[in-house]
Amino acid sequence: MEAAGSAARTEPADTGTARALEILRSVFGYDAFRGLQQGIIEHVIAGGDALVLMPTGGGKSLCYQIPALVRPGLGVVVSPLIALMKDQVDALRQAGVRAAYLNSTLSAPEAADVEQAMRQGALDLVYVAPERLVTPRCLDLLSRCRVALFAIDEAHCVSQWGHDFRPEYRQLSVLHERFPTVPRLALTATADGPTRSDILARLKLEAARVFAAGFDRPNIRYRVVAKAEAKAQLLQFLAGEHAGDAGIVYCLSRRRVEDVATWLCERGRVALPYHAGLDAATRERNQERFLREEGIIIVATVAFGMGIDKPNVRFVAHLDAPKSLEAYYQETGRAGRDGLPADAWMTYGMQDVTALMALLDAAQLDERQRRIERHKLNALLGYCETAGCRRQVLLGYLGERDHPACGNCDNCLRPARVWDGLVAAQKALSAVFRTGQRFGVGHLVDVLRGEVTERVQRFGHDKLKTFGVGTELDKREWQSVFRQLVAQGHLEVDVEGHGGLHLSETAPAVLRGEVPVAFRGDAAEPRAKSRRGRGIAPVALDSAATPKEEALFAALRTRRLELARAQGVPPYVIFHDATLLEMVRRQPRDLAAMSVIPGVGRSKLERYGETFLAVIAASQE
Ligand code: ADP
Ligand code: ZN
Repeated sequence: MEAAGSAARTEPADTGTARALEILRSVFGYDAFRGLQQGIIEHVIAGGDALVLMPTGGGKSLCYQIPALVRPGLGVVVSPLIALMKDQVDALRQAGVRAAYLNSTLSAPEAADVEQAMRQGALDLVYVAPERLVTPRCLDLLSRCRVALFAIDEAHCVSQWGHDFRPEYRQLSVLHERFPTVPRLALTATADGPTRSDILARLKLEAARVFAAGFDRPNIRYRVVAKAEAKAQLLQFLAGEHAGDAGIVYCLSRRRVEDVATWLCERGRVALPYHAGLDAATRERNQERFLREEGIIIVATVAFGMGIDKPNVRFVAHLDAPKSLEAYYQETGRAGRDGLPADAWMTYGMQDVTALMALLDAAQLDERQRRIERHKLNALLGYCETAGCRRQVLLGYLGERDHPACGNCDNCLRPARVWDGLVAAQKALSAVFRTGQRFGVGHLVDVLRGEVTERVQRFGHDKLKTFGVGTELDKREWQSVFRQLVAQGHLEVDVEGHGGLHLSETAPAVLRGEVPVAFRGDAAEPRAKSRRGRGIAPVALDSAATPKEEALFAALRTRRLELARAQGVPPYVIFHDATLLEMVRRQPRDLAAMSVIPGVGRSKLERYGETFLAVIAASQE
């Protein structure tokens, strides 16, 4: 695919653009570039350096794959994700691209074969682990090849500010020194200010053009539900909306991961645990199954997820609140990479507030860091408690303050009730004060509601003025009031004790009635109104689909899984769900009609066109 070598250099950039578009269509099967892709691709084809900041699912891969095919020579992709290189290369080969990878999983003879192919100009793209790339041997090898470009994927790994620091990324600055004329692109979905400047400085990309797409993931629907019986709530959510779908469930601790995975399995789902306490082989096996099979749920701690490029993760559920909004954005970002509808769903309750505060308290931090972490925690609580658009809060925190209300979060879809909570707040604070500022929410609610429990009697709390003054709210409503008082900073949690509450500096002003207090009414989880009626087909198929269309979609997925198994590749490497859905919608009858389905390039048409046409024809009988 190295045509147009000299022509591309002497003629106007248009030639490069035309070539890029031709490759987009014939190799990848797509009609048009998305968002910033075209600008980036033209810039790199013309030899420029670039920093590409794009959310997950934005389409970063094509930004280096297409220039590598248009420019003469070999595209070198640096990626820290050795476990995923094979899948990435398999996907390219399926599309007819001459691709290979070099990492420690290859035997010496296999690596020698790849190196020879590189020297002979028989490859368009090679994926290399960073620690290998910077060895003198590999650099020498490259200096004997014609290099079209360097793409540095997951570029935030170069920065200590990011969450996945990899020291070996620092040495990649050598690429600029050894190959000053070869264009370089750094790509990442993480783009906070400090990380961005760090990438530019550390990789010596000061002259690079920065292409920054916004953070919004419009296809993800954000939801937070008040935690009652978290596992049962999760099951209801899954049964109602994601019966056949793959997804990720995040929990805070390893024990809880194991517990939830077992619990889901007992209820008929395939759920696999993933946390740092499992041995590497088990972790790898579970990740493999998640990628290669359909409908698997991974129950994980935050140890799971970097670079997971499974496109059809239909939901990310948090049974425990994440540590920060940045973390939440990253974790939920693994859903809906294919652009089809996906859910980010969280249960949140007082336990989460207490647990996060305890973590913060236990951390070894200096005063300044503690203030920053405290600020992050407050932002997270603000997101969980907001009655406004969740997306606005999330994106506002990431620096994008001008988004309109989204229409695709729980608060937009069912506006939350906001009520004047001054009197309730005063009653709650007064109960805290009169019981000696050391009891937890459970007992305080009993006192307010006038429950004569053993504890209440033992401490003589039935004699207090606040005893029984709060019968207008039920237990859950009072729990919500206490949680929001903590989130609003009027109460503080004694994390060393047993979650006892005490008044903060701002509490007296509330007690005196000097500041307004508003609460969000906790909506009960809306009745799982299945998007699918029957709730068995994947959410991706829209609700107007007929049973026949559902059956066809299932048959196409089955065929895809068989083909994937036979070749030892993940199903999405054959076709994405979006491509199968288009087949359901258009029902092509011949190869010509099949060839215009998005995601069906020339190579895949040849390999799979007839097979999938046969499945479609059979369904029409
Ligand atoms: P990222 O690496 O930014 O997370 P990917 O490169 O994996 O995103 O692309 C996300 C999805 O979007 C993939 O399914 C990819 O095939 C698809 N995609 C990318 N560019 C286009 C395009 N121009 N038209 C249609 N689909 C595209
Ligand atoms: Zn919204």
